[in-house]
Amino acid sequence: MKVTDPVCKMTIDSEKAAAKSDYKGQTYYFCNPGCKAKFDQDPQKYASK
Ligand SMILES: [Zn+2]
Repeated sequence: MKVTDPVCKMTIDSEKAAAKSDYKGQTYYFCNPGCKAKFDQDPQKYASK
């Protein structure tokens, strides 16, 4: 499944995501652990579209 990394907006494959995070019942995928770290610091900022 193609997903968008909410931090850097890169399109990635969810099966190849380097990291993922659950927030408010939704799963977010990241291209690298650095993006996950940024998301986890301020998930509201990135989760809102
Ligand atoms: Zn990223």
